[in-house]
Amino acid sequence: MILPNSNPKSFNPLIRRIKVHASLIRRIKVQTLLLLFASTLVASAQTEKESIQTNINILTSEAMHGRGYVMHGAEQASIFIQRRFREYKLKAVTADGSFIQGYSFPVNTFPGKMSLSVDGKELAPGADFLIDAASTSYSCTDKPVKTLDLATITSKGGWRKALSSFKEQNVYCLENADSFCKVFSLRPTEFAASLPRGCYILPQKSKLTWDVAQDTIEATVFYVRKDALPAGIKSVTVNVESLFVPKERSENVLACVPGTVKDTFIAITAHYDHLGMMGDAAMFPGASDNASGTAMMIYLASYFASHPQKYSILFIAFSGEEPGLLGSAFYVAHPVVPLAQIKFLTNIDIMGDATDGVTVVNATEYPAQFELLKKINDANHYIPVIKSRGKAANSDHYHFSEAGVPSFFLYSNGGKGFYHDVFDKGEETTLANVDGVAKLLIDFIGGNTNP
Ligand SMILES: [Zn+2]
Repeated sequence: MILPNSNPKSFNPLIRRIKVHASLIRRIKVQTLLLLFASTLVASAQTEKESIQTNINILTSEAMHGRGYVMHGAEQASIFIQRRFREYKLKAVTADGSFIQGYSFPVNTFPGKMSLSVDGKELAPGADFLIDAASTSYSCTDKPVKTLDLATITSKGGWRKALSSFKEQNVYCLENADSFCKVFSLRPTEFAASLPRGCYILPQKSKLTWDVAQDTIEATVFYVRKDALPAGIKSVTVNVESLFVPKERSENVLACVPGTVKDTFIAITAHYDHLGMMGDAAMFPGASDNASGTAMMIYLASYFASHPQKYSILFIAFSGEEPGLLGSAFYVAHPVVPLAQIKFLTNIDIMGDATDGVTVVNATEYPAQFELLKKINDANHYIPVIKSRGKAANSDHYHFSEAGVPSFFLYSNGGKGFYHDVFDKGEETTLANVDGVAKLLIDFIGGNTNP
């Protein structure tokens, strides 16, 4: 999901440096995964919350590497979801009888070294600093830093002059880049893209929020927590390895529970990918975004598998959401189940804590369906509140509703505001009221109340 930045409540460095022979790591990971799978075979006796928590724990485990585009993270998550679909005996909808729809996209990745030391102090990747997701490789040892306060630049001409003064192999600390971007109406990524080759440190007062880039820039740009930097930095040691992958192969995972009316579908979707790893040490678990929504979708698959409905229920777990809603865009351009046969689609993205209920994007576009959702909740008091929102291109429902498929996007309201950072961990998802959301969706999608 695409959200505005919010402030983190605390910082805990997440540093995992395990140097063991690669094949041994793989073996341990496979064993860990098998243990996790085995421990969940008793899933039939689990409540909504227990099932969702179990699957969040698996999707955020180290074996999944943050479900991104390094170390086969997203691929591991896809294999896990397919395994669940097989477990529940869901039916394939693809021509080849598999549960996957493959496609590819370009992506910039950081599979290797990711270290930044300032005046001899090593900073924690993820917790103390992020790299601009489009950055290129860079390394230097004890290189002197030139500092430039961007608050002193007040015109475009002044900025052009500063840009032409930057030397390729140098390291610069650009103070007040965030306020400079506001003044000149630049997104931080646009600002980073304007910088020539070299290494740049941008001290940040606000929360660090990472992303995935589909392209590369010339520079290597670090966003560093201001309070993690010494005053008047003198030198840095940098070691960053980036790898641009022009064709990252990825896949959507899909299957259905056939209904008595087989050719009409009600779809439940959630993206399973996240940001992966920033170097070999910082993992982005993406518990809330979107292990939680994926786990909700898996729970609903298990429920509807044993409670088939009038209409067929289609489940699609998308990849490529984080680089830009790519999996859902690919599906809409190459539908497996024709779009005209999808009666309604409910996308779930961010479902870790519904203390303050849920918000429904597209509520104003489909008022009858929104009224139905509210009516069910009013009668059963499943969750405290359902908020209405208009159209927004902020998750995988978007390309469907633009193509004429009536769609909602539900996200939960609550939690500590960890978003696109290393702190969005399984133990932070309280799952408050999430069982209520599951019951609400079952009533909304199933029974006699189909949207
Ligand atoms: Zn996201």
